[in-house]
Amino acid sequence: MWLSVIFLSIGSCTNPQKEMNSNENPFFTPWETPYNLPPFDQIKPEHFIPAFKKGMSLQSKAIQAIVANPEEPNFENTIEAYDQSGKLLRQVRSVFYNLASANTNEDIQRIAAELAPVLSTHYDEISLNPELFARIKSVYEQRAELKLDIESMFLLENLYTGFELSGANLDPQNQTLLKTINSDISVLRVRFGQNLLAETNDFKLIITNESSLEGLPASVKAIGANAAKENGLEGQWVYTTHKPSLLPFITYADNRELRKTLYTAYTMRGNNNNAHDNKDIVAKMSKLRAQRAQLLGFNNYAEGVLKTKMAKNPEGVYGLLDQLWEASLPIAVKEAEALQEMIHQEGGDFKLESWDWWYYAEKLRKAKYDLDDNELRPYFKLENVRDAALMVANKLYGLQFEQLQDVPKLHEDAVAYGVTEADGSHLGVLYMDFFPRASKEGGAWCDEFTAYHMEGDKVIYPVVTTVCNFTKPNGNTPSLLSIDEVETLFHEFGHALDALFSKCTYNTTFVARDFVELPSQIMEHWSTHPEVLAAYAVHYETGEPIPEALLEKLNKSNLFNQGFETVEFLAAALLDMKYHTLEGPLETDVETFEANYLKSIGLIPEIISRYRSTYFAHIFDGGYASGYYSYIWSGVLDNDAFDAFSEKGIYDQETAMAFRKNILEKNGSEDPMKMFVDFRGRQPSIDALLRNKGLN
Ligand SMILES: [Zn+2]
Repeated sequence: MWLSVIFLSIGSCTNPQKEMNSNENPFFTPWETPYNLPPFDQIKPEHFIPAFKKGMSLQSKAIQAIVANPEEPNFENTIEAYDQSGKLLRQVRSVFYNLASANTNEDIQRIAAELAPVLSTHYDEISLNPELFARIKSVYEQRAELKLDIESMFLLENLYTGFELSGANLDPQNQTLLKTINSDISVLRVRFGQNLLAETNDFKLIITNESSLEGLPASVKAIGANAAKENGLEGQWVYTTHKPSLLPFITYADNRELRKTLYTAYTMRGNNNNAHDNKDIVAKMSKLRAQRAQLLGFNNYAEGVLKTKMAKNPEGVYGLLDQLWEASLPIAVKEAEALQEMIHQEGGDFKLESWDWWYYAEKLRKAKYDLDDNELRPYFKLENVRDAALMVANKLYGLQFEQLQDVPKLHEDAVAYGVTEADGSHLGVLYMDFFPRASKEGGAWCDEFTAYHMEGDKVIYPVVTTVCNFTKPNGNTPSLLSIDEVETLFHEFGHALDALFSKCTYNTTFVARDFVELPSQIMEHWSTHPEVLAAYAVHYETGEPIPEALLEKLNKSNLFNQGFETVEFLAAALLDMKYHTLEGPLETDVETFEANYLKSIGLIPEIISRYRSTYFAHIFDGGYASGYYSYIWSGVLDNDAFDAFSEKGIYDQETAMAFRKNILEKNGSEDPMKMFVDFRGRQPSIDALLRNKGLN
């Protein structure tokens, strides 16, 4: 019943005649395209709603059939059948959401907005279906006797845990309570985000006197002048607590009082005892999350979240964070001393404060290894960097990339490659789409149109896309990348290799959030390795290799200020864990809780946690509650895994094969710690990360 009601409303934006003739809808007929690529030239916005409708309806029917099956539940008739449901929906979703982010238009945006609640209702209907869960639970309870292979067991256990974490195992009364808690949390989340937005937008540092801008480069002055213009204050300068305005200001402004004013406004967001104060929301949310966890049978919120992650439990996270904290805090203290020394040498008679750090760190950086991004760019022509990434994949894994002509593409800027193994057999298709355009979201990402899987005995090959927003060619100047962009290209290419090498049998995979960046971040190591740079970093006009001196500066500047950056990050990661290992309500107010905790771990006053409670949107208005640690966790993994290569040579075939077999082929279908240990022969160690950041 709910289906027809909702579909009436979303159906209204489509052309009914198109819906009548299903033969015209490319989602309803097999794709007669090379490599089964989506026929982008035939897919029109009006095809999506009917295809989504049919996809949801087919999946609902498949679920009903599983539930109505008179046979006793077993792996095949329940777990496999569940995994195979929703094929059409997966197909239309992947095409639609790739278009929505990489080549959108008003029609697509309108459809996306209308679809969001319909899809979430569809998936809720499945995850809260008590009869479906009863069958999954029955198979789960027999699992010891089923003689399942590793991949099938991993699917069963994760599927069961997912249902369990959404409350499927609770009695109806507790399910109602859980729903109330979920809904309360979601209301608080929205309020947290709105308050933070208001507080971030409210504050403006208005400068009327140009002499107050001393130290600012022209580009940073322009940021202030433009913001002033937008605020109707032409001829003045406005700086805000948005990071692109804040960071350059506190890095370059000579005026110490103004740095203090702006940075303090930033660190006090949501903590001003006004209508947009977030302290009460933080206290309520941490209490509700502890309550929710206990309802589900955990001691605290983090225990539930971490059950399906590589870290497994809070002890696993602390085991790593504590070691990193002990290593990096003394380095940060030394860095603070060096900055204080600089203040004294300049004749300053004051103590280094948090709002001084960026300013003096930049001065020190400049004095020690002045490195101008524009000096580097000529050596990183986009085509050279791209070819270098393909070369690395060839040397490591024997892959061949052939540019495909006349194949359907999401946008004409995209380039398609047929990817083959060393023996010429087909591996998949990779699109690369590099330049910004109005129809594309910012940032960089990798996604799939089709994920590798098996349909019976038939292999379905992956179709992968990497999307970036790189500096465009300009007149006679080709696209010249910054070092960040070079690393981004290799990063996304690493995600693509992960997808291309996948040998996961099932459609349903579970890639852990604290593992997903290993395949991507490890590729960044090749992008700046001297041996690889020697092969590709040549001046785009002269063909001269990148000068040794420039490389040395680059390497040294990578080690600069790492104590500060690590400590600033870890303070936030530890604060996140502290909130989410609470087993009851806060015993003090939020400010005291935060201050006491950060003092207890020895955070120095010159450094403020990268996020304080009242503006920690990752954890109070995002999906990173007890997950902020993941960023540095992945860093430990990629540094340690790359060490396995550097120990034997960066193109060592045996190591490459082990990385491919144990990690890239299995990601999402096996326990991440097992995958890592199978590759490395031991659990991850923090040594390589510390060494590469100069923290050892
Ligand atoms: Zn990534």
